[in-house]
Amino acid sequence: MPEGDTIYRSARAMQKAIGGQAVTGFETALAKLARVNDDASIAGRTIEKVESRGKWLLVYFSGDLILATHMLMSGSWHLYRTGERWQMPRSRMRIVLSTSGWQAVAFNVPVAEFYTARTLERDSQIPRLGPDILSSGFRVDQGVERLTEYARTSPDVEVAVALLNQRVLAGLGNVYKSEIAFAVGVHPFRRMSTLTPREIERIVDIAHRYMKANVIDGKGDGIVTYLGNRRTTHSTDREERLWVYGRQGQECRRCGMTIQMRKQGTQARSTYWCPECQPWKE
Ligand SMILES: [Zn+2]
Repeated sequence: MPEGDTIYRSARAMQKAIGGQAVTGFETALAKLARVNDDASIAGRTIEKVESRGKWLLVYFSGDLILATHMLMSGSWHLYRTGERWQMPRSRMRIVLSTSGWQAVAFNVPVAEFYTARTLERDSQIPRLGPDILSSGFRVDQGVERLTEYARTSPDVEVAVALLNQRVLAGLGNVYKSEIAFAVGVHPFRRMSTLTPREIERIVDIAHRYMKANVIDGKGDGIVTYLGNRRTTHSTDREERLWVYGRQGQECRRCGMTIQMRKQGTQARSTYWCPECQPWKE
């Protein structure tokens, strides 16, 4: 499942490879996009920039046209040198953007829309995202304010469910949700109303530091950008990259207790925690 940082990396790699270049070809399996392309050809336009906003990846074309894609669970953007063999079958291709040296291919992307600057502001859910933890302009105090406000208006929502809500804070995914709750010592099933101001501050601060550390480690600049190397424990051993995520039944790296896992929220996402390091609190 693509996390916010994966999409950030995809956007950054695409910006590096095809930003500023002219589109030499556009192909899509999505009828809605094809209709726009018939009316106002994408080929010939310049790719002005590629950016991520939370889990959305936006490609800005000259002539006031913006392609917004959301990866949901299964989608990904790949970058290939012209002529390079794709790593997924053509049947899963949804969009191909070609430049003279590159092909950016969106596979299995379930949500893709064209916008103008104006309709993007007005219609889409993109502007309604919470502060984006991965954007260079993100400020911790802004995130704290948003999370505090959310705890006040949605006191009964469980902490780890709130962390996944992109309208509260944009950019966090299922892996980091569990890792952050562990690092802060907060039981992921606690209600938002039980969080102290200090805990809220630490959640945002640690979320910001984790996301930054994983984004700047340089590993995302390869040609295939959909795989991230997530690291939260500072260990160099690949097996010891994460504190609790995916470690159900194993010993806590800090205290030795057995890591627990339970499905959480309406989407039944897996949540991992240590009952000793993250005590329950009403
Ligand atoms: Zn523990």
